[in-house]
Amino acid sequence: MEELVTLITESEIQQRVLEMAQEIRQDAGDQPILLLAVLKGAVPFLTDLSRAITGDVLIDYVQLSSYGNQTRPGKVHVHKDHDLDIRGQYTVVIDDILDTGATWQHLSDLLLTRAPACLKLAVLLDKVGVPKESVPDYVGFRVPNKFVVGYGLDKAEMYRNLRYIGYLK
Ligand code: 5GP
Ligand code: MG
Repeated sequence: MEELVTLITESEIQQRVLEMAQEIRQDAGDQPILLLAVLKGAVPFLTDLSRAITGDVLIDYVQLSSYGNQTRPGKVHVHKDHDLDIRGQYTVVIDDILDTGATWQHLSDLLLTRAPACLKLAVLLDKVGVPKESVPDYVGFRVPNKFVVGYGLDKAEMYRNLRYIGYLK
């Protein structure tokens, strides 16, 4: 196993996720909230966040695959679409990290064609120093422009099970 430097501890994550749950519920009022998590990286965040949100919550998933290369930079493909109808739903997309924002750009364009009551983005992490067009509605932590792993975030499918977030030295 490579050497990891801890960036955000388990207790810091747990504390912040509780705060985010309260912020999300406060903004939604008493409407049911549809949490739409982006597989696979957002799963630990989704499970902790969803259980901390009071009132009615629905959960669904999308999975995207990105074929970023020189000829088609950041082309995003929907690998698994959501099952629930988001029309008229108060919808909050849950993702692990906002880097360039290309994923969100594509996903939000698509989801908006399906007429949710509103469409918000909650990310656990936002990478600073990366130019991006969109600002998430809810951000857990801002992290430096390093490759981070843990709490859902992987490197070649490893490290998703860590309870903290770190970067590889
Ligand atoms: P974006 O489309 O915003 O550039 O990238 C978002 C996606 O890229 C994230 O959902 C995540 O899957 C992946 N990603 C971006 N930065 C990192 C990182 O530092 N570590 C890991 N593990 N994945 C990242
Ligand atoms: Mg992702």
